[in-house]
Amino acid sequence: MLVRVKTIEFSNGIGPKSRPFTLLEKRFVLSIINNLNSWPGLHWIVFTGQGKSDWIVSLENSYFISTELDPLAHSSNETSFKNLSVTMPTYNGNQKITWFNLTNWNHVPAPLHSRYSIVDYRTYLINHELGHALGLDHPTIKQLEKLGQTTKCPIMVQQTKGLLKFQKNIWPLVQEKQKFVRRGLT
Ligand SMILES: [Zn+2]
Repeated sequence: MLVRVKTIEFSNGIGPKSRPFTLLEKRFVLSIINNLNSWPGLHWIVFTGQGKSDWIVSLENSYFISTELDPLAHSSNETSFKNLSVTMPTYNGNQKITWFNLTNWNHVPAPLHSRYSIVDYRTYLINHELGHALGLDHPTIKQLEKLGQTTKCPIMVQQTKGLLKFQKNIWPLVQEKQKFVRRGLT
């Protein structure tokens, strides 16, 4: 398989109460996205400031993320982005940005407490958001219905909300990797 080199840029954060990644956290992110279990055909290096990076990541405050993405949310105190991380294209479209939700980055969210360590959860989260950055969406209910009860949870399921009927899983499934390669996204 042809391996494509891509660049990741660790932003210091843009919103209030964001914080930079520590050196250990940067190493951890790189170790996940370059792991053979992650999305295939890619080799990630740290952006050096020449040209444009492919993927900008930062650690942002939960309240900042929800109010930025859904400005009406904080008056109603209800938001679809509450406690979630988000990945989106930049305005010119050829870079992707991920805001990792600091609350979840620091503490495994309640639905997964008993099953995921913080390392497990961050591994899931990085693989999931990278999936979005590479152009993949959440699976549809129809797609999920085809999978059996004992199947590992697809990485593109929003596991932060719970594992639905599935088993613990923190890496892209073989089927998800095949779909990714078929779509020519590497
Ligand atoms: Zn998602």
